[in-house]
Amino acid sequence: MPEGDTVARQCRILDEALAGAVLTACDLRVPREATADLVGWTVSEVRPRGKHLLLRLTPPAPGPPPLTLHSHLMMDGIWHVDGKALRSSDTSAGPRSPDTLRILLEATHADGRQVRAAAYDVKQVRVLRTADEEQLLGSLGPDLLDPAWEEDPSLRERAITNLTAEPARPLGLALLDQHVLAGIGNIYRSELCFLRRLHPAAPTSAEKDPGVLVDLARRLLVLNRDRAVRVTTGGMLGRDGDLWVYGRGGKQCRRCRTRIERGELAEPRLEGTEARVLWFCPWCQAGPGAPPATGRRRHR
Ligand SMILES: [Zn+2]
Repeated sequence: MPEGDTVARQCRILDEALAGAVLTACDLRVPREATADLVGWTVSEVRPRGKHLLLRLTPPAPGPPPLTLHSHLMMDGIWHVDGKALRSSDTSAGPRSPDTLRILLEATHADGRQVRAAAYDVKQVRVLRTADEEQLLGSLGPDLLDPAWEEDPSLRERAITNLTAEPARPLGLALLDQHVLAGIGNIYRSELCFLRRLHPAAPTSAEKDPGVLVDLARRLLVLNRDRAVRVTTGGMLGRDGDLWVYGRGGKQCRRCRTRIERGELAEPRLEGTEARVLWFCPWCQAGPGAPPATGRRRHR
């Protein structure tokens, strides 16, 4: 599942390709927006909000309010620009079947340059008034990649407040909840729990310094925003050494050589199978709140 850094990267590339261009074709292949006609509208910018992608448009003539074409990558969504997939380590970049095409945009710049952008397998496609974005996304937690993060300390404060609001909730579930923090997906929640040496099933109250966790989450997303391959280990471990635990079930922990375990966590309010599976080191993450280990063994 794409994480906030992937969405931010795809938005940056789309923004570079489309901002300032006038749409000459627009095909939205979803029932609720099939009749939307955005030809003649100008793309003003493409911006991420957590894992949501917002393509903002200004009208061809004064009158109608600015609009936003909203979409979400969900599990498998991917954008192509001029036929080239905006690949990343968490989206398979293989060829997509035409029947998964959901958005097709053609646009022309003032200098005559033409651009074609296509989105496959994206979900939640809708056109709304830009002024109504907040109505749609206002319940999201602070966006870890919000450009205002450094200047506006209230974002970090709100992130900490949200994260600690339910002390008994498992940390591995709170981190994935976009209403707590926006931008973390399944990869980062496993990696963050490992880096903080906390079991994903441990209650959030086991994190004694939630500010450090929030800062770490933001640092990882910022670090990986412009990279095609995600790294949480500092990149010093060579080939196949990009992640600590995610997807490494049965392999040795890079820190203590215990076998990494694959676990599941679920709660009804977090939908989707991606919310369940996670990975952890039963030795490194045996701190406060960890469930009793089954067959924990250190392999030296
Ligand atoms: Zn370990």
